Amino acid sequence: MSPKTSRRTRIIATLGPATESPEMIQKMIEAGVNIFRINMSHANHGQVRESVKIIREISHKQVTRVGIMMDSRGPEIRTGDVPKDLNLEAGQVIGLTVRGEKSAEEYSVDVNYDQLVEDIRVGDVVLIDNGNIELKVDEKKHNQLLCKVLTPGTLKSRRHVNLPGVRVNLPSLTQQDKEDIKLGIEVGIDWFAMSFVREPEDVRQLKAILDYHNAPQKVVAKLEDQEGIRNLDEIIEAADAIMVARGDLGIECPYEELPIIQRRMIKQCAQQGKPVIVATHMLESMISSPSPTRAEITDTANAVYEQADAIMLSGETSIGKYPLKCVEMMDRISRRIERSGGAGFYDNVKMQSKFAKLVKSAAVLAEECAADALIVFTSSGIIARNAARLRLVSTPIYAFSSDNNLLNQLPMYWGIQPSYLETSDDPEDNVSRAVAKLVDRGLLQVGNTVVAVTEVKINDRLVDTILMSTVES
Ligand code: PEP
Repeated sequence: MSPKTSRRTRIIATLGPATESPEMIQKMIEAGVNIFRINMSHANHGQVRESVKIIREISHKQVTRVGIMMDSRGPEIRTGDVPKDLNLEAGQVIGLTVRGEKSAEEYSVDVNYDQLVEDIRVGDVVLIDNGNIELKVDEKKHNQLLCKVLTPGTLKSRRHVNLPGVRVNLPSLTQQDKEDIKLGIEVGIDWFAMSFVREPEDVRQLKAILDYHNAPQKVVAKLEDQEGIRNLDEIIEAADAIMVARGDLGIECPYEELPIIQRRMIKQCAQQGKPVIVATHMLESMISSPSPTRAEITDTANAVYEQADAIMLSGETSIGKYPLKCVEMMDRISRRIERSGGAGFYDNVKMQSKFAKLVKSAAVLAEECAADALIVFTSSGIIARNAARLRLVSTPIYAFSSDNNLLNQLPMYWGIQPSYLETSDDPEDNVSRAVAKLVDRGLLQVGNTVVAVTEVKINDRLVDTILMSTVES
């Protein structure tokens, strides 16, 4: 079996200046990337068009499918421009102004969220520049907050603002996001990752846009704050996949809650049968260092052990000095940890439909017989999703479909290996051709055992069944 296809945990890599050339994209795919992420906080429309074209051209020549995920910028609160950097010291007072208010304070900066003063309370914390600067609200004025600096730092122009625990009244999709989504549909990306999902309605809004355009894309809900976590179960229900967006979660929630939140999210996704991505800071030090810290190795290993569907690289591959080494590192860690067993969150997950139960029976049979392949045919992706949920450790799962859009979405699912097959009305013929394709690729040999979830004709009626066979010459 090809060493690159046997890893079950999927790797998502963010594109950026370090990786967007055709040469690097080719090398990243060879190193094991399953999905490329385009981050709309940084990419412009020209770059999106170019990257999608390059990825499609290169991945077309590969046996394995590679997906593309567009990550929306989402509602962002930022400070405005400062004429020169502000060196904030502990205990100092800074004014945060809105609606163009002029401050009488020596240090002040404008914030682009007009309702800031109304929505925040005295005593609340304001975090600036990804949590590097911490302020406490001391006093509220008409268009200004007076805040005391708790953690000092240098404030530059247009820094990210977080308001932990505050219900921010911003639309989940900005005008910019809507334009980006239109572009994503036009160029045919595979997944939209929606930032700062706080309630299921946010996801439904994006899905309504996709439905309106009759677009096939699936939606990843990024959970980044306490409100999103409170609505976790309903958001999982509404979305097609979930991202543990630890960058913002780690600012919006107390640090010590983060591992608990991650575990809870993975367990709940297992129960509800939706894929889950663990993201951010997985190999952060490798942005500038050729090897990871021991803590990063252990963190990545932990996500693999928890059997998350995918692990994600952000700055490590977009701007880092060692993007290929990062992918290779994730690949090595994943393969080793997968061999050592999982946390068991997916043991005994309840399958809902009869068909999903049939897939589960096929998986049990495949593992019991140490089968060399479990073959499924999928037109909507549901069967592939249910097969992935079983977290088969010894039998590889091959999902066949004649829908190219769907096949490009399947790289999100744990352990699923997607393949194109022009399916016919004859189920037995489909199985034979699927097996022949795997033999051709060197993934199966004569004498191997294959289990397939398929149909058979009984009295002219097609019925669902599980078929076990041996590969013949
Ligand atoms: C995160 O916050 O972890 C995340 C992935 O979101 P972004 O990098 O888009 O802010």
